Amino acid sequence: MSTDPSPDFGSVDRLEVPHHSFAAEAQRLDDTDPLAPHRDAFVGSDSSLVYFDGNSLGRPPRATADRLARFATEEWGGRLIRGWDEAWMELPFAIGDRIGALALGAASGQTVIGDSTTVLLYKMLRAALDAQTNRDPERIEIVVGRDDFPTDRYLVEGIAAERGARVVWIDVDTTRGVDADLLRAAVGPRTAVVLLSHVSYRSGFLADGADLTAIAHRAGALVLWDLCHSAGSVPVELDAWGADLAVGCTYKYLNGGPGSPAFAYVAARHHAGLTQPVQGWMGAADVFSMGPQYLPAEGMRRFLSGTPPVLAMIAMQDTLDLLESAGIAQVRAKSVALTEFAVRVADGILSPLGVRLASPRDAAERGGHVTLSHPAMRAVTARLWKDDVIPDYRDPHGLRIGLSPLSTSFAETWTGMQAVAEAVRAEG
Ligand SMILES: *Cc1c(COP(=O)(O)O)cnc(C)c1O
Repeated sequence: MSTDPSPDFGSVDRLEVPHHSFAAEAQRLDDTDPLAPHRDAFVGSDSSLVYFDGNSLGRPPRATADRLARFATEEWGGRLIRGWDEAWMELPFAIGDRIGALALGAASGQTVIGDSTTVLLYKMLRAALDAQTNRDPERIEIVVGRDDFPTDRYLVEGIAAERGARVVWIDVDTTRGVDADLLRAAVGPRTAVVLLSHVSYRSGFLADGADLTAIAHRAGALVLWDLCHSAGSVPVELDAWGADLAVGCTYKYLNGGPGSPAFAYVAARHHAGLTQPVQGWMGAADVFSMGPQYLPAEGMRRFLSGTPPVLAMIAMQDTLDLLESAGIAQVRAKSVALTEFAVRVADGILSPLGVRLASPRDAAERGGHVTLSHPAMRAVTARLWKDDVIPDYRDPHGLRIGLSPLSTSFAETWTGMQAVAEAVRAEG
């Protein structure tokens, strides 16, 4: 067992909190939760399994099974190739606009469903870097956090090698993320583009989108926001922030299913000035003219490359329906209540076991998950999975408790946190 609890975590009087009071609190929070009925909309919500990993792969809404079956028989099966003209060609833009309106604070015509997050990040980062170095050959630096999600860092390294650019790494405390002071120190007259995570995948640190965007802009840089752990859980205001570009996952809080394609946002003012490197026929000005050379389409179509993965973008629409009825502000309010409850329980029953909070303690600086640290967490995670309690593990020693506001209940959270305590006792 660890003997190194963080000094700001837990206190002796918390050890006396009786468990039944957390059970009662969970019950009361569920009883007064306006989003509680939404939980029934998800497959598996009636089972005893505890799901703490909706921030990696969201649960499927029940309506999705019908929607997929209907699509296979009626649209694909019934409309066949006519489906492209009738609906599918426009679907990436229609769903993109809906995500923009419901979750991103983006006016229409700026968001599209495209490739995987990794591929879209590559395309956007290359487009932004090239536009900047064409404008000013001195701007050859890409700024990124050293603790960012691997794909983001690997892409930056690859693009830097490919384009002769330089990577500027921001060192961060792994229990936080890139904040204003760190960014201010990293940007300057040579910065081309900054890649930032709105919610850190490891710590759950929630960046100030408006503030960080303004800092990058004052240095003459463009900002590409990674919204993987925000979209559908934390309000995002891309237009109001003055953001340039953004990319995010749809299989996390948007429950689009394993491998569902990502969305990309490009502010309208940049459309004409950005060209992306994977020039395919679906991004061309006139898709069916099949002309001799590539001319990029106007608007968001130019960021597409090949045939859109229509089948893979069907499922996320059910969560967009739920989001529309709940409203992102209400979703955030529940998300904060869930993480606050999880932190209180951790203070009460996990801190005495040597477990530390590896996420911001202030809810205003925290997204939808809470990371708990203890040397035994890898073994703890394996034990929990065997018992149908499903969080995930991230080095170093981090157990991530992902709390999906639409599908997670407070009682489920309490049950799962008790199981974490038992597993730490067994493995610690
Ligand atoms: C989940 C996640 C990704 C995943 O990228 P894929 O191409 O969908 O595998 C990328 N970046 C961040 C920050 C993530 O959390």
